[in-house]
Amino acid sequence: MDTETIVQAITKQILEKLDQSSNTALEHVYHVPNPSQDGQDGIFEDLDMAVECACEAQKQLLKLSLEKRGRIVEAIRRVGEKNAELLAKMTTEETGMGRPEDKVKRILLAALKSPGMEDIKPEVFAGDYGLTLVEKQPFGVAVCITPSTNPTETTICNAIGMIVAGNSVVISPHPNAKKVTHKCVKIINEAITQAGGPPNLIVTMAEPTLQKTMKLLQHPRISLVVATGGPGVVKAVMSSGKKAIGAGAGNPPVLVDETADIAKAARDIVIGASFDNNLNCIGEKEVVVVESVADELMAEFAKQPTYIMKDRNDIDRLTRLLTTEEGEFNRDWVGKDASCILQALGIEASEDVKLIVYEVEADHITVMEEYMMPILPVVRVPNVQEGIRLAVLMEGGRHHTACMHSKNVDNMTKFAQAVKTTIFVKNGPSLNGVGYMGEGHFTATIAGPTGEGLTSARTFTRAQRCVLVDGFNLRG
Ligand code: NAD
Repeated sequence: MDTETIVQAITKQILEKLDQSSNTALEHVYHVPNPSQDGQDGIFEDLDMAVECACEAQKQLLKLSLEKRGRIVEAIRRVGEKNAELLAKMTTEETGMGRPEDKVKRILLAALKSPGMEDIKPEVFAGDYGLTLVEKQPFGVAVCITPSTNPTETTICNAIGMIVAGNSVVISPHPNAKKVTHKCVKIINEAITQAGGPPNLIVTMAEPTLQKTMKLLQHPRISLVVATGGPGVVKAVMSSGKKAIGAGAGNPPVLVDETADIAKAARDIVIGASFDNNLNCIGEKEVVVVESVADELMAEFAKQPTYIMKDRNDIDRLTRLLTTEEGEFNRDWVGKDASCILQALGIEASEDVKLIVYEVEADHITVMEEYMMPILPVVRVPNVQEGIRLAVLMEGGRHHTACMHSKNVDNMTKFAQAVKTTIFVKNGPSLNGVGYMGEGHFTATIAGPTGEGLTSARTFTRAQRCVLVDGFNLRG
């Protein structure tokens, strides 16, 4: 064999080796159980393989220092921030619901205001008998079921919380938000591996279906199930036999009494109820107003970007348009712009209109049931006592959100005590309740039915107590 042939053979071998090692570069650092094409970017055809890879990723995560885990979480924040506009646009295009400019704000909140490593600080008790440490430990692999109304902020917020807590995450998206969820999972995975974390810390399914979600809920490798959605999915996770966190539907009433700053109340209510075409579970869904200030409130609503629907015939046509013959809300209108709804009714209005406001009786379907559209029914009551009684009925024991505009502390306290919601906002838009221009952290998952409240990393941990006796202390 001549020298040139030998050099060529050696070069070929080196190139083949290099090719293999670049393909499996991550496998040298982390064991990846799935060397096939399935699972590229964390998106899997095979559900069992997805769970297997997430399981391996979680083991690798636990081998990293907490400092490194913090860096991974920072990388998720940055990628969420950078892609907020793209994800918002993709979501509205795919689901046909909501307003991209509002979705951007929620995605940024998820990326920047979901609590980080500080949320899982251990608790320490030290005294005469020694030292007790309570550490927040991960569950393992968590399933996160996301809603079609807020697919990416729920993915980002839960990914941050669950990974801070030391879990890996299987995202189970609504089939109508599949593509944008794939994009979100892909960019999060890229950010994690670029920050030195393992691949597949967050995975999802290529073709989400209800059957696959049900299978995940029974999967032996899954130890924590978290659902953000309507009553069906909350019931499903609570019946899974695993640690379950259910963030369910709301129907937030807003009560306005005679002491309120009426102009401000109208402004705040329209901000909250029109945000993202009222797709938010916390958004004000019905107004209860004391009779003596009701006309003033309606006049102030008219100064906002609203259409005030006065004609009873129009209100009946609106109700028929938005509901089905079976008396349910027509999903085709969920999250659509107010101008589209008005157009369908043949009503001319400015393009700027963001909310349709109208007066009805307390038993109207749009008052008692959650609708998620840019409409706002208003109900008059003779006094605040009757207002509290009715608003509690409207909230319907969902333990979600309620708001009140008042300057009377006794009235606000009575309503808060009676309604027992997870979020109670006084004199501001409902959005303030999740940290939007308000104090406190953001969450996309408000666990009313199972009682964890506004979830964060610590919600996704299990507490372990470690006790050192024999009088460990520094007193000498
Ligand atoms: P949805 O209940 O139709 O779907 C939510 C998710 O659950 C989807 O991924 C869906 O595929 C899955 N799902 C639905 N029924 C299921 C079942 N029986 N078993 C297993 N999985 C099931 O809700 P949606 O229309 O996508 O989202 C809007 C709902 O979510 C509203 O009711 C809203 O109030 C609620 N929501 C609640 C919160 C909160 O924090 N509490 C936040 C956002 C949205």
